[in-house]
Amino acid sequence: MGVVASTEVTRVHAIVNPYGGKKNGLRLLDEARRVFEHGGIRFLTYETEYAGHARDYARSLLLEEADVLLPIGGDGTLFEVVNGLLARDDEQHVLVAPVPGGSSNYMGQSLGLPADDGDAAARAIVAGEVRPVDLGHVQSGDRSVHALCALSWGYIEELTACAERNRWMGVQRYTAAGFHELWKTGPRPARITFDGEEVIEDTFSLFLCVNTEYMGRDRVLLPEARIDDGYWDVIFCRALSKTHLVEVVARMNQGDGSWLSSDHVEHRRIRSLELVGENGDPVNVDGEPNLPMPLRFEVEPGAVRLVGASRGDALT
Ligand SMILES: [Mg+2]
Repeated sequence: MGVVASTEVTRVHAIVNPYGGKKNGLRLLDEARRVFEHGGIRFLTYETEYAGHARDYARSLLLEEADVLLPIGGDGTLFEVVNGLLARDDEQHVLVAPVPGGSSNYMGQSLGLPADDGDAAARAIVAGEVRPVDLGHVQSGDRSVHALCALSWGYIEELTACAERNRWMGVQRYTAAGFHELWKTGPRPARITFDGEEVIEDTFSLFLCVNTEYMGRDRVLLPEARIDDGYWDVIFCRALSKTHLVEVVARMNQGDGSWLSSDHVEHRRIRSLELVGENGDPVNVDGEPNLPMPLRFEVEPGAVRLVGASRGDALT
């Protein structure tokens, strides 16, 4: 028995940006609607009209315990919906079931949900299981957000920002930005504290803190990362020459996780983190507008209940 049957879900609230990402939101919406309505579930639709609207819907919709939020899109839409849900005054924490269809779907991938196929994703959700997923609570000054996928700083942050400025390039923008920023960005100084114990004060060429194991479709960043083990994984490189950084990034881009065996790459599994850098040095949180250092990060184990594919079934 899948999650929808076992929790007696009667309503889903689909939140979709019709013009965002790959502009396939309305097609995915129609495909998913047919599956849920066929199962006798009421399907309500909310189209977003401005940045942050998905978050506002999740924060303010009238929700009942058995309802499910259905963000349609990529990690950005899911990020908004989860942050809206956690900001609710009534603390109604309903299930969230993402229908992956963005340019990055790392969380959807980790949940075993098919991307760009509303029919297959909805079927997997109906037959799926509840996954209590760890979130990263990020505090920067008076700003506070919950991250689902990744924090990056330095090279990777610059890469993400550069890619965002070039959305017109589609998925290729990440490769282009990767090379562009590789030559532009140098090592940066910071003091990093892991779990309140280990302090490293150094200059760093690369810094990533991740929840999900993927870095793209069929490409794995960190094979042993798990979204529900109570830890996030930090991968970093201290100051490297351009040649060594190119080597590391090329191995990272192979997408098989083998880059972790490089002598230049260090790895920690952590529950909390403090990042202190040069004043206002930006950190990218789930591709969102940058949060300036100093920044505190804490894992909140199982803080959101997402619906993923049943791990008993192989998805085709
Ligand atoms: Mg983990």
